[in-house]
Amino acid sequence: MNLSQVSKLSEDQARETLERIRWANGVVCPHCGRVDGHTKLQGKKHRSGVWKCNSGCAKQFTATVGTVMEGSHLPIRIWLMAFSILCSAKKGVSALQLQRQLGLGSYRSAWHLCHRIRFAMSRNPLKGMLDGVVMVDETFVGGKPRYEHGKPRKKGPSGKRMAVVALVERGGRVKSWPIADVTAATLKGAIDDHVARSASIQTDTLMSYKGIGKWFKGGHQTVNHAKREYARGDVSTNEAESYFALLKRGITGSFHSVSKVHLHRYCDEFSYRWNERKTTDAARTEKAIILSEGKRLMYADPIRKAG
Ligand SMILES: [Zn+2]
Repeated sequence: MNLSQVSKLSEDQARETLERIRWANGVVCPHCGRVDGHTKLQGKKHRSGVWKCNSGCAKQFTATVGTVMEGSHLPIRIWLMAFSILCSAKKGVSALQLQRQLGLGSYRSAWHLCHRIRFAMSRNPLKGMLDGVVMVDETFVGGKPRYEHGKPRKKGPSGKRMAVVALVERGGRVKSWPIADVTAATLKGAIDDHVARSASIQTDTLMSYKGIGKWFKGGHQTVNHAKREYARGDVSTNEAESYFALLKRGITGSFHSVSKVHLHRYCDEFSYRWNERKTTDAARTEKAIILSEGKRLMYADPIRKAG
């Protein structure tokens, strides 16, 4: 299911597509979990796509119940298109662009749509430990550029720069999120929580990482960026830097600015696409839709949270 296919669907076809994705192994009641005895309610009395759980809780449900789509007034076709766009865009898509592309009435609903899909992409708590060669790097995003018109900026505040850490398995998964600072306690804590003891750690020569090698079987290797050393044999932080390059291009190019409150959502989005990069756009989209299950109640309204 790619974007051009989805855009041609009627609302009924879009609903059937969602049901096929969500219930690939048969219809499941989102209220009680029963996998049998459901009937689709027919006739003019009922909205289309309403099911009834006959053998279990006797409640009615649709394919959006229990997902980030529940309670939305947007057509399912728009949801599927939005999932498809966000799952395919390497550098992200702004809410404004999505509003234009989907012809949405308000910026606010486009913004909500984006954040709900980011939430669907998130894996909370981050599952499984990273292993093998794990490259760790930290960066700062946001704030104003240090250079303007090719010269160092002289005037004005620099804005709030926010620290982000990325832990990247060589050729594998990434885990990335905002951190309070880049002290040894914070960075070592991040590595300790998410990397298996059998791994080896590769970083630059930042002092905060010093001594981390004794916790890991594969030890700790460094490259010295200050001496313009970016790779030495098998040692580098290249993949972590590639991840950050995408995230930064997204933040400055697509989103223009990102507040501290929402930064973790953008990290989730970019991590999701990175972790699913070896699959097709269509498969990446379907997986995000499946991941949106069970997230209805966990979803905290980003506007309310931002206060
Ligand atoms: Zn039920």
